[in-house]
Amino acid sequence: MRWKSLGILKDSKIVEAFEKVNRKDFVPKHLVSEAYEDHPLQIGEGQTISQPSTVAIMTQALEPIKGDKVLEVGAGSGWQAAILSVIVEPGKVYTIERINGLAELAKKNLEAYGNVQVILSDGSKGLPSEAPFDRIIVACGAEKVPEALKEQLAEGGVMVIPVGRPHQRMLKIRKKKGLLEVQDLGSFVFVPLIIE
Ligand code: SAM
Repeated sequence: MRWKSLGILKDSKIVEAFEKVNRKDFVPKHLVSEAYEDHPLQIGEGQTISQPSTVAIMTQALEPIKGDKVLEVGAGSGWQAAILSVIVEPGKVYTIERINGLAELAKKNLEAYGNVQVILSDGSKGLPSEAPFDRIIVACGAEKVPEALKEQLAEGGVMVIPVGRPHQRMLKIRKKKGLLEVQDLGSFVFVPLIIE
């Protein structure tokens, strides 16, 4: 994938991470020939690994930096978590997945990434034991921003989350002096955030 020429990624650390973490290592074997095409791919359980340009837009918007503590909701294949782990190292990435088979897939795919932890749980509740988080990224479409995620975002932190039904608006939320500043990054389509 020609990440630089895609024109989305501005930060050289983020470009490096996208170049280092190969999407083909996170897609099912029979779809490897499509790994570099800009569309989502099925990863089983009716779920998808997101479109490369969408992952690039969300990662850039998140503004991750070295040392950050990151929460991802929706581990799926683990690709997004792997990219973030390279950027924030020695910081840590916690990624939550609600489907057991996919949590196991993500764990396997992320074995080489020592600063990522995969948790089988309902991510709409966040991860109170590790909060607050400098960055929160949600990889599934929420009806509204879960209260737990608002609370678990650190002061000065950034959250990127697709919100709405059936299409989503991608929201970039920054917490400043306890208040949430919201920026709309446009329309996207995601698999739904399921609340247990
Ligand atoms: N980030 C993933 C990757 O890099 O492959 C793609 C994520 S996929 C588009 C969305 C994922 O969110 C699915 O695996 C789905 O099971 C998961 N999901 C949906 N609702 C969830 C919830 N409440 N808690 C945790 N995961 C959830």
